[in-house]
Amino acid sequence: MKDNELETIEILKSMIRIISAYYNKKIDGIESADTPNYVNSYNFSLHRHCFCGKENCSLCNTPNFYYRPYGLEVYWYKHLGRGMYIKSNKENLKICELYDMMNHCVMEIENMRYKYDIKNGGGV
Ligand SMILES: [Zn+2]
Repeated sequence: MKDNELETIEILKSMIRIISAYYNKKIDGIESADTPNYVNSYNFSLHRHCFCGKENCSLCNTPNFYYRPYGLEVYWYKHLGRGMYIKSNKENLKICELYDMMNHCVMEIENMRYKYDIKNGGGV
């Protein structure tokens, strides 16, 4: 399996966990190691907990997950699923809206990689 595909699976696993946390449900079997180190595109960002402890660290001071269209910010303590805190500009998101969000994020990151591959000669 290619690195890009592994990263997409990490994104999907993280987002399933985030969506379940939105409804206060717990899904076992998804560990914090399944979260990508750091992914960032126009509409979303996702990263593991940063253990650096530095006051001015940009990772420590940004949400673990951010989705621009809903203004959704998700924070967790050390491990995805632990002490989670969620806030959003949009109240009471429906499951279909969260599913759209997951789809949107994966499509966006895949399209970004595709454009990058084209720019660099199309090799995968
Ligand atoms: Zn940090």
